Amino acid sequence: MKWKEQLLSLEPYKPGRPIESVKKEFGLDQVVKLASNENPFGTSQKVVAALQSVLSSFAIYPDGYAANLRSAVSEFLKVDEEQLIFGNGADNLIQIISRAFLSPGKNTVMANPSFSQYKHNAIIDGAEIREIPLIDGEHDLDAMLQAIDENTAVIWVCSPNNPTGIHISREKMTSFLKKVPEETLVVIDDAYHDYVVADDFYDAVEFVNQYKNLIVLRTFSKIYGIASLRVGYGVAHQDIIRVLEPAREPFNVNTLGQIAAVAALSDQDYVNECRRKNREGMKQFEEFCEEHQLHYFPSQANFILIDFGTNGDEVFQYLLQKGYIVRSGNALGYASSVRVTVGSNEENSGVIEAMKQYL
Ligand code: PMP
Repeated sequence: MKWKEQLLSLEPYKPGRPIESVKKEFGLDQVVKLASNENPFGTSQKVVAALQSVLSSFAIYPDGYAANLRSAVSEFLKVDEEQLIFGNGADNLIQIISRAFLSPGKNTVMANPSFSQYKHNAIIDGAEIREIPLIDGEHDLDAMLQAIDENTAVIWVCSPNNPTGIHISREKMTSFLKKVPEETLVVIDDAYHDYVVADDFYDAVEFVNQYKNLIVLRTFSKIYGIASLRVGYGVAHQDIIRVLEPAREPFNVNTLGQIAAVAALSDQDYVNECRRKNREGMKQFEEFCEEHQLHYFPSQANFILIDFGTNGDEVFQYLLQKGYIVRSGNALGYASSVRVTVGSNEENSGVIEAMKQYL
């Protein structure tokens, strides 16, 4: 048997504990999952209605070109249809980019801690990984630029960053983009873009026509509320899309996902409402942290990383038996913290109450 040796160094991906298994373990009737940054308000009713109309047969393959979704996203973002690539979640796009651009002999630059899948895929594809520590939860873009050499194929920028929630300002982002050599692909992972309410709010897609070495990743898993249907997309110059397309599997976005994403995009009232409620929820957590003098990063996303100054695993376990699944900071590079997804008002009050009891 021949396989890539580096696969043995990787743990299988273990996402947050499933609600049912936590219920069973602790004999709880109700368990709230605030671990994976999903939309606590669920799915838009427009999406539910659109799906109900197609729930009669699953015999036909999905549209491999995602024509309707492509047309809807192209219109929404005011980009050409050929500037788009769709994925089975943004995870799939990270995998496609890695597969197309990374190999032994190449290197890739990323922040640390940041979203785990950049490194995971780079290891599988055999590239050298150059991780640049965050400063105060924020990308050190200057140090990341310095780490680039003639073999740097991809540089990953996550804004807002998972797990800190810190958003890169327009000024920093534009000055960074100007300095990246043309031969290096810049990936801006914009998974949490729709939650951003920063004063200098900007849409990274506007840079795509200016920089031919840039791809912006987005997802329907967060504010659009269809994480289980797995839809994400990338926006770039068509020369980049041309290189990525052959590395994509033919039917990577399923039919229900395509239909749901079109409906989700059409319901911007729902998106705006979720953004507003997320901000309110974030305030509940910020107030709790300030009241108890716990360090947190000011997050522009739908999660918050709270430092309890103890062991993140211990806080995680405590909250678990109280019926709240959060994410221990231990696996995220912040050993004394937990990352909590902002939930509904009631869910937030509940988990905050449990955290108070822990203190
Ligand atoms: N990028 C970031 C920064 C994320 O946090 C996530 C979700 N955890 C993804 C990408 C992947 O999202 P998707 O559900 O679209 O695969």
